[in-house]
Amino acid sequence: MTGPSGTTQVAFVGLGNMGTPMAGHLIAAGFTVRGYDVSEEARGRLAEAGGTAVDSLAAAVVGADVVILMLPDSTVVEQVMGDEALLAALRDDVVVVDMSSSEPLRTRALAETLAKRSVVLVDAPVSGGVARARTGTLTIMAGGDTADVDRVAPVLAPLGEVTHVGDIGAGHALKALNNLMSATHLLSTLAAVETGARFGIDPEVMLSVVNHSSGQSASSLNKLPKFVLTETYDSGFALRLMLKDMRIAVGLAQALGCPDPLGEDAVGLWAEAAAALPQQADHTEIARWVKARNLSTIEPGAER
Ligand code: NAD
Repeated sequence: MTGPSGTTQVAFVGLGNMGTPMAGHLIAAGFTVRGYDVSEEARGRLAEAGGTAVDSLAAAVVGADVVILMLPDSTVVEQVMGDEALLAALRDDVVVVDMSSSEPLRTRALAETLAKRSVVLVDAPVSGGVARARTGTLTIMAGGDTADVDRVAPVLAPLGEVTHVGDIGAGHALKALNNLMSATHLLSTLAAVETGARFGIDPEVMLSVVNHSSGQSASSLNKLPKFVLTETYDSGFALRLMLKDMRIAVGLAQALGCPDPLGEDAVGLWAEAAAALPQQADHTEIARWVKARNLSTIEPGAER
């Protein structure tokens, strides 16, 4: 596979909060990028960034060396990869890279289905959020055969640091487990800060001490100071997507015979928050639910 100075062509499907800045980095690195999203507005963003926006999946993937998917979940990934026009347009030596946070067991099954059509699948989900998608410093967890991961590594390099974590699906498993840990400590940190505040401890003082103590985490170091205490709640990662990832992780634990009761309780609490908050709520808005959970509803006027 040729590098940025050659003629490597990348198809990018899913140009949302993450996909748009990621596609922008590929364009800046010199790759030819053709992109598709069901949203016309999203396609417009790719065109503005210097890519070629097209209006069908088949038109995006025709001639592509690598197809990158950055879609909401496994259901959408399966729909896209089941599109006959797309399959017919794929080159024989193409590698499809699913960078969405998908379900590892469904990824394994999809890889088997695609192999029957001679299509190679690699999973390469990411951590770091919109902020690190913008700076091209994502943590990328790749699953698949070593030769396949090596083939796509030059295309992924402008997006962040790639670690080959195991066979197909291993990236998706690790990503879901990471987000279950992240969501659990976010909720735990918010509850602790709420208790501290009710006792009279300033949340900023509390966080500055915790961040030099053993309770620190990405939640205390990053999410509370940037998105919660500022009340901006604009991390760019939807609460419904976080809940999806948590469910994948606890489902995987159950499937593998090592159920995670703390994780299951965390899923229950996040599901309650999802039911109480607006459909499009950012995941950091769980802070509003933590504050309001003694009330019957989130306070009027807080809807967006
Ligand atoms: P998003 O909802 O902003 O973007 C998803 C895009 O996919 C949308 O633009 C949507 O129009 C498009 N889409 C949906 N169905 C489609 C289809 N059939 N064909 C083409 N396009 C379609 O989501 P996001 O925040 O960019 O997240 C994408 C993936 O990355 C998710 O799996 C998410 O869990 C994961 N992720 C997100 C973050 C984050 O901070 N936002 C961080 C790490 C991982």
